[in-house]
Amino acid sequence: MASVIEFRGVSKVYNNGTEALHNINLKIEEGEFVFVVGSSGAGKSTFVKLITCEERPSKGQLLVAGEDVSKIRKGKIPYVRRKMGIVFQDFRLIEHMTVYDNVAFAMRVVGASGRTIRKRVPYILSLVGLQHKAKHHPNELSGGERQRIGLARALVNNPSLIIADEPTGNIDPALSFEIVDLLSEINRRGTTILMVTHEHSLVKHFHKRIIQIHSGEIVADTADTRPDREPEPDPNFEVTGVVDLDDGTFNDIRIMPENAKPSDYEAIETDGKGERK
Ligand code: ADP
Repeated sequence: MASVIEFRGVSKVYNNGTEALHNINLKIEEGEFVFVVGSSGAGKSTFVKLITCEERPSKGQLLVAGEDVSKIRKGKIPYVRRKMGIVFQDFRLIEHMTVYDNVAFAMRVVGASGRTIRKRVPYILSLVGLQHKAKHHPNELSGGERQRIGLARALVNNPSLIIADEPTGNIDPALSFEIVDLLSEINRRGTTILMVTHEHSLVKHFHKRIIQIHSGEIVADTADTRPDREPEPDPNFEVTGVVDLDDGTFNDIRIMPENAKPSDYEAIETDGKGERK
């Protein structure tokens, strides 16, 4: 499988001397769904901004969709960005445009033909369940609906990677599940998804890879199976990772292996070293 994202010894130091990321090594393969978690100031946004080429690594190499973006020329950045769809926490919809035009606009800016746009936009709107709202304006929609438009816009140019930075941060928690359900459906169709989130309930509910960033370093990755990273085994549960559930306290998330339901999850409070409290 090809890597969509590969960090090789990446560090990021901002101009004021803050080291936001330190020696990140990581691969995200085609077709994965990855949650990135961590407390405020951990380095999550910096991690995303390096991938979207809003910031550059200070050290190391970063490959995005086969392109080395660590030293990419400014003029080439739009071509890399076309391979990704970005979903924002604050939706970033154009208020004076209809729902249809918000999505169509994303196609116009990359030079799609009118015919392609007329075929594609209704399809994508139906994929997010909002074909009946095509003529409405964003201010007539609920937060969950607005984010589904954000998702439609991110998807419309058929990107191989979707980056969602706290996409459920501004919507009702109950509707957050709908958004992640939709992202899961999109992932099943082959698109790689990287989602930054604070919401523990979401991370616990969906069985996905979890990368935890703390003070600029990756402190847990459920895809990391090195023996020294494995918490103590429990015969009743498959251990899938260690996650910072409460901004600072570490918990083992233990998940029933087959056909698990949310009620099968058990979060066990630990002292941060893997020992139960
Ligand atoms: P998170 O998204 O997890 O809250 P950030 O990536 O925004 O974390 O921030 C990581 C660290 O880098 C913090 O200490 C933050 O203050 C610092 N930081 C973020 N952006 C900048 C910037 N543009 N200039 C200087 N420091 C920054």
